[in-house]
Amino acid sequence: MTGQNADCAPDSGPREECGIVGVYGSSNAADLAYLGLYALQHRGQESAGIVASDGRSIQSKKGLGLLSEAISPFELDDLPGHVAVGHVRYSTTGSGRVQNIQPLVIEYSGGIVAVAHNGNLTNARCLRQAYEARGSIFQTSTDSEVFVHLLADPQHANAQDPLRHALNAVKGAYALIILQADRLTAVRDPYGFRPLVLGRRADGYVVASESCALDLLEAELVREVEPGEIIRIGPEGLRSISLGRAPRHARCVFEYLYFARPDSVVFGEVVHNVRLRLGAALARTWPVEADSVIAIPDSGNSAALGYARESGIPFDIGFVRNHYVGRTFITPAEEKRVSSVKIKLNVIRDAVRGKRLVVVDDSIVRGTTCRERIANLRRAGAREIHLRISAPPITHPCYYGIDFQHADELIAASKSVEDIRDFLGVDSLGYQTIEGMVESVAGDGDGYCLACFAGDYPVMAEQGIGKHALESSR
Ligand code: SF4
Repeated sequence: MTGQNADCAPDSGPREECGIVGVYGSSNAADLAYLGLYALQHRGQESAGIVASDGRSIQSKKGLGLLSEAISPFELDDLPGHVAVGHVRYSTTGSGRVQNIQPLVIEYSGGIVAVAHNGNLTNARCLRQAYEARGSIFQTSTDSEVFVHLLADPQHANAQDPLRHALNAVKGAYALIILQADRLTAVRDPYGFRPLVLGRRADGYVVASESCALDLLEAELVREVEPGEIIRIGPEGLRSISLGRAPRHARCVFEYLYFARPDSVVFGEVVHNVRLRLGAALARTWPVEADSVIAIPDSGNSAALGYARESGIPFDIGFVRNHYVGRTFITPAEEKRVSSVKIKLNVIRDAVRGKRLVVVDDSIVRGTTCRERIANLRRAGAREIHLRISAPPITHPCYYGIDFQHADELIAASKSVEDIRDFLGVDSLGYQTIEGMVESVAGDGDGYCLACFAGDYPVMAEQGIGKHALESSR
């Protein structure tokens, strides 16, 4: 199977933001993978799965819901072995099927393989159509399944390095952990869209989407899996090879803004520190006289603190989050999202009544959730509300694994900032500038994906389908 058809439009199928973890060398690898998934639960709450191997046989447990609902700790006894891979998943509407739960496991001529994927492939539909035309049967509706078909394809399976050969056919965003008998393989796509880190324990290795999983597993953070790197871990130790270089790196800046936990190191920087800088940049760009700075928890907390420190306005707690409900942004149906707002965040009335508030949030996607929160602050007696947003306006869809796929879901794609301010019912609205965001992220700000803010799609443009994406978003 060769690469994609350049005429293919971006896939309109399920998009996912997921958490993945792999453990090698510990006698209780599945137990550790389970702990790692707990740390990564914020990256997906709709299903969870663990596959473990003792080098001879491979066993798996999967289920829908939060990790504790999907897999009972008592079931981990059924997952013996020193190699394990785990996955927590968020799926969009209609794709929460049991068959889609990862890691995906298949048996082919090369043995049994389990694949955990975070990201979204931009040519999955083309690859799938080509395989289906040749008679292949797909078990799931996820883009991730093309990986297992590629691996089983004799064209790749008979190559000197089957995985490397197969991955050359894939475009888009992927952080992968693959389990095979006595080995674990971690891969990051050449653009480096999604994060993946390597950790070391006394008895082996851990790879995970975020370093917060390593902390829980008492693994020392070694480094990022580099963009375009394949790390193979087996009885002979760890080996790194290059998958290939991309014209540029394109780390997803949304990991800093929203997805990653503040205690994680992502793309080489502590997320909390980046968010502090984002908040400080907002304070410099959009100063205002106010009595207190409050956050939309949790992802707005660090940026609100950054705003407060930079501006000298006291930080306060205005909302309290109920942590036992899923995240609204990643709940599939619109009606669910709106109705869950009140369940998830409650206003501390005394903290807001009669106050001029700076409210710091991470981003505005559709605006409906934000509007309801603002209305709740008004009902609680807030005198003035000055909304500050850590992200610039999101004007373009994401095709790399974050769930805003269509421009008509994005309020900033069709409304001016003044119209959005009016829609939200705030006294002033200040978005981060792209420059302010780039200055706040790790390194020199180079090598990040900014496509949802600027429309410059790193992969789409290269393949001639970015134009389609841009046109469809206007
Ligand atoms: S388009 Fe936006 S959300 Fe998607 S990968 Fe790029 S920065 Fe992340």
